[in-house]
Amino acid sequence: MAQYDIHHTCGHEETVQIYGTNVHGERTRKAEWLESKPCRDCEREAVREANLAGAAELEGSEKQVSWANDLRAKAIGDIKAKLATLDTQYIAAAQDWKDAQRKAGEAIIEAMLAETSAKAIIDNRDNLVSHYGAVAQQAAK
Ligand SMILES: [Zn+2]
Repeated sequence: MAQYDIHHTCGHEETVQIYGTNVHGERTRKAEWLESKPCRDCEREAVREANLAGAAELEGSEKQVSWANDLRAKAIGDIKAKLATLDTQYIAAAQDWKDAQRKAGEAIIEAMLAETSAKAIIDNRDNLVSHYGAVAQQAAK
């Protein structure tokens, strides 16, 4: 185990513990890999921004808007992660089924991005996916 001062690409510095041996430069490689990326906070922020790309502006107090955007960014990330498994964990599944899953997931993401009420997201925070699944179905009619 050793501590490394990592200088991330975003300009932030972090001291990290890197475990394991360094007989073949394993720890050094891990440190170099970490230095080739932004820090965890910036990476998280970049993912949040990517998930909220194209999102409609929310109405509500500053606190509500920030919370609601966190909630929808996380829900969108979860859906994207689930859709990504279609090509890895469901290789043998029927293409029609996969296409339908993908279409449904993308429609839910679209409905979440189109939401303009911070309160609506916060009120439905425990079932965002099913709520916006219903919204998407309604919109498709
Ligand atoms: Zn950073």
